[in-house]
Amino acid sequence: MRIFPKADLTGRNTLALPARCARLIELENRTDFKQLKELLEEDSHVCVLGEGSNTVFVDTDLPHTVIHLKPPATMTQGIARENDLFVVDAGLSWRELVQWSVNQGLGGIENLAAIPGACGAAPVQNIGAYGVELKDVLEWVEVFDWQQGLFQRLSNAECQFDYRNSLFKREPHRPWLITRLALRLRPDTPLRLGYTGVREALQAQGISPQQASYAQVAQAITALRASKLPDPRTLPNAGSFFKNPVISAQKLQALLAQWPALPHWKQADGQHKVSAAWLIEKTGLKNQRVGDAGFYNKHALILVNHGQATGADVAGLAKKVIESVKQACGIVLESEPVTVRAT
Ligand SMILES: Cc1cc2nc3c(=O)[nH]c(=O)nc-3n(C[C@H](O)[C@H](O)[C@H](O)COP(=O)(O)OP(=O)(O)OC[C@H]3O[C@@H](n4cnc5c(N)ncnc54)[C@H](O)[C@@H]3O)c2cc1C
Repeated sequence: MRIFPKADLTGRNTLALPARCARLIELENRTDFKQLKELLEEDSHVCVLGEGSNTVFVDTDLPHTVIHLKPPATMTQGIARENDLFVVDAGLSWRELVQWSVNQGLGGIENLAAIPGACGAAPVQNIGAYGVELKDVLEWVEVFDWQQGLFQRLSNAECQFDYRNSLFKREPHRPWLITRLALRLRPDTPLRLGYTGVREALQAQGISPQQASYAQVAQAITALRASKLPDPRTLPNAGSFFKNPVISAQKLQALLAQWPALPHWKQADGQHKVSAAWLIEKTGLKNQRVGDAGFYNKHALILVNHGQATGADVAGLAKKVIESVKQACGIVLESEPVTVRAT
């Protein structure tokens, strides 16, 4: 374990927002967890940080103790077999896990290729892409409760997964460090190629979608994502900033009467998901900035840091978006990233 007082977090969030915390605790192995109980006893501001790709540090000076799990030295040290499950350490990089899985010929998470972040953060917002969500392959999550000093296992159902949501995100004040995930990765997982773009990308390479390997699907999705999303290393961002709102059939009909071209997708429960990016385009805000916080020119859902943006700039721009969309159509957009404030 290493403890850094007054640690700089600017390089630890993909929006590159300037921030500093009271102390950063870097945990290196499972024996470190037990010490957290004592270390955090008097601390009322604790937050866990993975790779910072879904976090907005709104304030620059944070009174927080930030806990970070260091990735294991090698992939094999971070992955264990338990019956028919693969148990992965929370500190592992999600991208590397997907690469490892497809290289082993194991399916289940290939559609989630190239999503930034640590494995421990994946259950927090039930990461999803190209028709697959983490909940589709997750068996259980292990957490360490730093107030009680105990490990606990939560089943898939207990995690209360939903679209970009979970118990962990809904109840952020629980003293829980996610330490391991158990995943069903199998050589016979059926491919999920419902997205036309993925099938087309495979066909363009002469690969029949029915015959594609997990590795080929992951590669096609990685290339698709690279063509659509800004790379945080060159244009700092946190991916999609707003969730696509889910609305009733009645509300959808009212919106379609006003905007027949509004993209929408029927959900299993009869509700409809509508495109947040399309609604944001309609507000005409896309060329606006607050300080150096602005929009990615190819996608209105992605807020970016054009250089010197602060968390307050990003939060200010997000607030403008939410107010404008609400005024235009009565829908209140929800932010996807987690915000960390001084108070
Ligand atoms: C370019 C880009 C593309 C993206 N694309 C997608 C996408 O397609 N789909 C998608 O779902 N997301 C996407 N994201 C969002 C992001 O990658 C995911 O949410 C990812 O899981 C965040 O991982 P992280 O380690 O960076 O989390 P962080 O930002 O470090 O943390 C996010 C939240 O998880 C909590 N947390 C992190 N680790 C732990 C732990 N061990 N225990 C308890 N809590 C923890 C934090 O406290 C915080 O509340 C994208 C982001 C970027 C920048």
